[in-house]
Amino acid sequence: MNRYTFVFQALLLVAWSISAMGTPGDSVKERPLNIILMIGDGMGVSQLSIPYYFSNHEPVFSRFKHIGLAGTSSATHPVTQSSAAATAISTGVKTYNPALGVGPDTLPRRNIVEIVSDLGYQTGVIATSSVTDATPAGFYAHVPDRYMHREIAMDLLESEIDFFAGGGLKYFIDTTGRDLFREHGMTVNFSKLQKIEDRDPELRYGFLLAMDRMPAMLEGRGDFLADASEIAMDFLSRKDSGFFLMVEGSQVDWAGHGNNTDYMITEMNDFEEAVKRVLEFAEQDGNTLVIVTADHETGGFTLAAAGDYQTGTDYGTIEPSFATTNHSAALVPVLAYGRGAENFAGFYENTDLFCKMVELLDPNQKASRLTVPAY
Ligand code: MG
Ligand code: ZN
Repeated sequence: MNRYTFVFQALLLVAWSISAMGTPGDSVKERPLNIILMIGDGMGVSQLSIPYYFSNHEPVFSRFKHIGLAGTSSATHPVTQSSAAATAISTGVKTYNPALGVGPDTLPRRNIVEIVSDLGYQTGVIATSSVTDATPAGFYAHVPDRYMHREIAMDLLESEIDFFAGGGLKYFIDTTGRDLFREHGMTVNFSKLQKIEDRDPELRYGFLLAMDRMPAMLEGRGDFLADASEIAMDFLSRKDSGFFLMVEGSQVDWAGHGNNTDYMITEMNDFEEAVKRVLEFAEQDGNTLVIVTADHETGGFTLAAAGDYQTGTDYGTIEPSFATTNHSAALVPVLAYGRGAENFAGFYENTDLFCKMVELLDPNQKASRLTVPAY
């Protein structure tokens, strides 16, 4: 090595060290304007692998470059329910299993929808269950028990949510004949999904297309999830304020509870189609962060080889199977694409999803790592 090469290399080293240090207090360089959080309820890594073996296209999940794994335990149990998990992701607080939007003390905690609404963002939730089910409700409701559907429905009316789609109409019906939606400045379509053409800026929009849960894919739900996501993205992006949208593939979890492989495959492929449409929006838009994750794994689902290891494995045949009808404590995948996606690589708790998202949307938020005791 001659003297000049040495000096050149030393300069390179200095330049590298400076760039690696970054600017203190400015760890978030690329802020997204919008965040779309997609939750596959009960979607572990084996469920995420379904499109790799049970579809005939390049899996959309491979387009995500920043991958993490999140712990899901609740404040009280190693195995969480969807309610505590939704609360962890939406408020950054670990709580007891059936709690929804409240901490271990049953007192309400501010959720990401409330935080970013105060900053002028538009917000929405979409689910293939009732919109009052635990996962979507975690983003607007505050109740001590996830099964308080009527109270949860009233919380949606009173919430900051600008767009919602899913089932659950029966929880909003008023026996005295009052139109609760109109009273709360909402226009709700009960018959079919359609693009929202002329938006009244004072109105909020909803689609409630079933009395309770939406039909399963096997029952003919069609492209509801992908179409509703597209309608929401179109609607919420009309203001320049930015938006936060939560999209849930709710029934992946029910397929796991039911140990039903066909149900699982069809629900996962449907969720993947919704992810594809959302990614297409994000790729075009260039200002959107897409996060795909789960609240927990359900079913102890595997894609094991057929046969028996002692008597002869058939490596050529995948025989999907389940270890349980319950949720499991397995870490869940986190896939991130777009602005700020690099913040989601690594191992962390589900409460960190809240911190990371809020830090990205609120420039005044100073690394508010809440100290929440893990189980
Ligand atoms: Mg759910
Ligand atoms: Zn479940």
